[in-house]
Amino acid sequence: MPENVVIIGSGPAGHTAAIYTARANLKPVMFEGFIAGGIPGGQLMTTTEVENFPGFPEGIEGPQLMDNMRKQNLRFDTKIITEDVTSVDLSSRPFKVSSSSQTIETHAVIISTGATAKRLHVPNEERLWTKGMSACAVCDGALPLFRNKELVVIGGGDSACEEANYLTKFASKVYMIHRRDTLRASKIMADRALNNPKIEVIWNSELVDVLGENQIEAVRLKNSQTNEEQDVSCSGVFYAIGFTPNTTLFKGQIELDDYGYVVAKPDSGETSVPGVFACGDVSDKKYRQAITAAGSGCMAAIDCERWLSETGHTA
Ligand code: NDP
Repeated sequence: MPENVVIIGSGPAGHTAAIYTARANLKPVMFEGFIAGGIPGGQLMTTTEVENFPGFPEGIEGPQLMDNMRKQNLRFDTKIITEDVTSVDLSSRPFKVSSSSQTIETHAVIISTGATAKRLHVPNEERLWTKGMSACAVCDGALPLFRNKELVVIGGGDSACEEANYLTKFASKVYMIHRRDTLRASKIMADRALNNPKIEVIWNSELVDVLGENQIEAVRLKNSQTNEEQDVSCSGVFYAIGFTPNTTLFKGQIELDDYGYVVAKPDSGETSVPGVFACGDVSDKKYRQAITAAGSGCMAAIDCERWLSETGHTA
């Protein structure tokens, strides 16, 4: 007998979809991943304090929040498989979802594989990642360690401008480091950043390394025209050089946009294949927040439940 629904991915979107489908008695099966997306639990597993997820007035550590969601799922008997999905077959029904050890047939699939923030992996990055580095200003910018400090944003697109502007609420100054001499960002976003007195753009510059003993203290930059290196003091470094949606498994099987994100109806998570739903960052390049991912997981689950019942797959 095929399963009702297989959920691929274990960030806030996947766990919320699982909680809702489990409570609807659909007995969901979740592939939480193993190493493909880093570690199970998604991007919050590499975040320190989460202060903007409602319900935690004192804040909560990212890994703790994900562990709570996982426990909530186990309470409702979601079957959680700690393996990476290696292939999916959405061309015939029931769909097939395979890992290295098994193939599961299922009537519906909820895709919540997320997106991976691009990083440059400069030499000292791993050592200093949780000590003043981040790929999400909205998530981490308000933390005390960044307040009234000089901060650096890497990138020249809309995200970089948005994040730099956002950080000026807390920082004493924000340097935008861009590898070219013109911004990629849309005019309105670029103007906003360029006209912000707290933002200084350092043009034609690439990040060579991050420096600091136990905390970020500076960045080392190389001018791409003169090859000269300079160190710029700062207390935080935020990557805004784009995201890679984790959609390799689905290429050629469902509609993806030009950036590789799953095209999903915003009010339901329905994809181009009936019975396949998407939620969270894998189909969202605008908000990218834990709470929006969780909300979209809820919506995908409810619409999945309705689809299963309307198509006669569940009693
Ligand atoms: P983009 O791909 O648009 O921009 C990425 C930026 O990072 C570019 O300036 C690029 O430089 C730079 N970059 C990429 N790789 C490297 C590297 N290896 N080293 C140094 N710099 C690098 O990504 P965004 O996340 O900014 O935007 C993605 C999409 O989301 C866009 O469609 C954007 O409009 C949209 N968006 C919309 C927002 C809104 O409407 N509020 C907010 C944020 C994003 P280069 O320019 O030289 O290629």
